[in-house]
Amino acid sequence: MQELAHHLSGLGRGRALWKALSQGYFPAEADHIIGAGGMREAKHKNWGSFGWEVTKESLANCGTRKLLLRMEDGAEIETVLIPSFDGSRTTVCVSSQVGCNRACSFCATGRMGFIRNLSADEILAQVFYARRAARLAEMPPLDNIVFMGMGEPLNNAQAVKLALRQLTDGNMFAFGRSHISVSTVGPTPNAIRQMVDMPARLAWSVHAATDDVRKQLVPTTAHTMEELRDAFAEVLLHRGKEHLFVEVTMLDGINDSPDHAQAMVQLLSTLPGRTRVNLLPYNDIGHLSYRPSSPETIEEFQRILQAGGLVATVRSTRGAGEAAACGQLATLTSKHRAAQGSLQQ
Ligand code: SF4
Repeated sequence: MQELAHHLSGLGRGRALWKALSQGYFPAEADHIIGAGGMREAKHKNWGSFGWEVTKESLANCGTRKLLLRMEDGAEIETVLIPSFDGSRTTVCVSSQVGCNRACSFCATGRMGFIRNLSADEILAQVFYARRAARLAEMPPLDNIVFMGMGEPLNNAQAVKLALRQLTDGNMFAFGRSHISVSTVGPTPNAIRQMVDMPARLAWSVHAATDDVRKQLVPTTAHTMEELRDAFAEVLLHRGKEHLFVEVTMLDGINDSPDHAQAMVQLLSTLPGRTRVNLLPYNDIGHLSYRPSSPETIEEFQRILQAGGLVATVRSTRGAGEAAACGQLATLTSKHRAAQGSLQQ
């Protein structure tokens, strides 16, 4: 902010420019916020023109909107806007990497392989474009962010932390920390420990409590589930026993039996705070042997978790019709086709 204030010759102008950006206005169209003097400076210095392009915008029947964003180097990422069922708010699902090297077998991004990390600016720019799209499409106010798009946030923790600081800064995007969730598969105990000072709610994509099934779903898992769970427990205790959010993608016949549910209770019940488990029916990405669990199976799984003292909810699928649902995000640019081809072999 100080640097911006210096360039625009005034702290008030710096704040005004950030206010415009946080509402999804390019500086050149925000004279009602920035004022004539600030506008001249901003235009003169070309502040806020990112060199990005929204190459595609698609809308699913449920109102979920997916933006395909092309960055300066030609790499593309997907950012998804999800309106709540009651019409009170919009959540944006942001990406932290182009592709991902965690290789989860049920995830389209995992199949892409890893292309590159996003910078903090590129994470923030997604929120800018999302706020802009929500405003132009008259969606409910966008006040919630989930890091559940492309990439594993803890494999790009430095940029994610910098972006989180600016997202929660009252002079910048001004999101409440309880309105941001960072979701991770938990690559290693040390990676998990980096979450201790993140200004956001923490979510663990567990998917399976037993080591053999976890390894099938997240093949890059190199630690036992107990080791990963203990690292989360340590982080939660440091943060004052807050709740951990847990996600489980429900796959028919793979991780959805009553025994799997019991193992989940056993794994999670020693965590501090009241753990909240979200059960997500698998979204099809064309995998030959995966199908979503039936509603009855998910209900039974939920009942066992609840009987074991966990809070368990079933999340409805959003955006599947436009490949904008969890696990369906993948992009391909001509520039990166060669890279992907070699990764898939
Ligand atoms: S589920 Fe998340 S961590 Fe796993 S491959 Fe997909 S983007 Fe990466």
